[in-house]
Amino acid sequence: MEELNPFIIAQKQLDEAAGIMDLDKQAHKLLREPMQIVTVNFPVKLDNGEINVFTGFRVLYNHARGPGKGGIRFHPSETIDTVKALAAWMTWKCSLANIPFGGAKGGVICDAKKMSSLELERLSRGYIRAVGRFIGPKIDVPAPDVYTTPQIMAWMMDEYSKLVGHEEAGVITGKPEEVGGSEGRFNSTAMGAMYVLREAAKKTGIDLKKAKVAIQGFGNAGMFAFDLVTKLFGSKIVAISDSIGGTYSANGLNYDKLIKTKETTGSVSNYEGASKITNEQLLESDIDILIPAAIENQITGDNADKIKAKVVLELANGPVTLAADKILFERKVMDLPDFLVNSGGVIVSYFEWVQNNYGYYWPLEEVYSKLNEIITKSFYDTIKVQTDYSSSKNKKITIRDSAYIIAIDRVAKAMKARGWY
Ligand code: NAD
Repeated sequence: MEELNPFIIAQKQLDEAAGIMDLDKQAHKLLREPMQIVTVNFPVKLDNGEINVFTGFRVLYNHARGPGKGGIRFHPSETIDTVKALAAWMTWKCSLANIPFGGAKGGVICDAKKMSSLELERLSRGYIRAVGRFIGPKIDVPAPDVYTTPQIMAWMMDEYSKLVGHEEAGVITGKPEEVGGSEGRFNSTAMGAMYVLREAAKKTGIDLKKAKVAIQGFGNAGMFAFDLVTKLFGSKIVAISDSIGGTYSANGLNYDKLIKTKETTGSVSNYEGASKITNEQLLESDIDILIPAAIENQITGDNADKIKAKVVLELANGPVTLAADKILFERKVMDLPDFLVNSGGVIVSYFEWVQNNYGYYWPLEEVYSKLNEIITKSFYDTIKVQTDYSSSKNKKITIRDSAYIIAIDRVAKAMKARGWY
């Protein structure tokens, strides 16, 4: 049985990279556990007048490189292990992008879909009152994640500003532009992934204009990725899916028609004039580029040897398991890890925080140009470490290992400089 507890996976990934890079044992010990875990139980008045008590978490994994950074999830099956794992991954993501943040994550156990807008507002404000002492622009800066929106970020920023008695836009990112959100935040994750894809195509000799692409997931990430892949590169998207199923057409799928199909029938799998496929078939279809943009653990030890794509662009978090990682590597599939590929969101979050702190706002072109610069550098930093290990240390390592080595090394050096070990 493959390990599916996300925090144990996160620790194993760290252990593996630590072994390859010969990480100092003290640093390794420090990095295996979060530095701070806050659990809060707080009351929220429901529309029927009753009080419900909700449980929320905020984990600050490591702040050696700067304040914590990471989203807040509203999810009925949220667990502390998921939040801890996501906080660890945020630490590596911010470090790999070389932005001055540590890693953090938060969550509230709740079914946001079943709550009214007023209840969600009271929940959001209640959570901030409960964790308010543990966040701040120089302490830990939250952002949106699963089932949390720019509107929720605006309520949270408003509540925090009331708590501290002054305007504090930089306490939280992913806000609407009216209250300090950055230009370009809406599609920053997918846009960042496009810059990575552009460079990966150069490295692998894929002509993006002629490339066949499949995307798993048609939510925020998958939808923008679909739009951008076709607009920026002219690639053909032959398959797309959602939780209900997928659709395949060798001639390529049309974005507007997909949106309409999803709106009118509830699923992209009902696209007319194409074949219905399962999510498993989508992953194994005959394509050049596979973009998992849905949920975790999709490419596993069971199907990794059936993947035909030459490049896997991990837009979702954790779509490839540890066992699959090894198989893809042996099969020379270029598997680009999630914390490199989807770092565009946190990079633009960083820009939002900088703009809030300065009170000076940048046009969209400037945001994209700075994003391009940072994420392209991350890609080449990662490829360089992989090549260096192969040539000078005679160790064949995956791109994920290489990204971990860079990220961990930077955090370890910051901890050393601070005198933590
Ligand atoms: P979303 O909820 O908007 O969309 C998820 C999509 O996945 C939906 O189309 C849903 O139908 C589909 N899906 C759900 N279960 C599925 C299954 N079993 N098989 C196939 N498809 C399934 O979420 P999102 O914001 O698009 O996020 C998707 C992934 O990208 C997540 O892993 C998320 O952590 C990651 N991500 C998103 C962002 C962002 O800015 N949206 C940033 C970083 C990472």
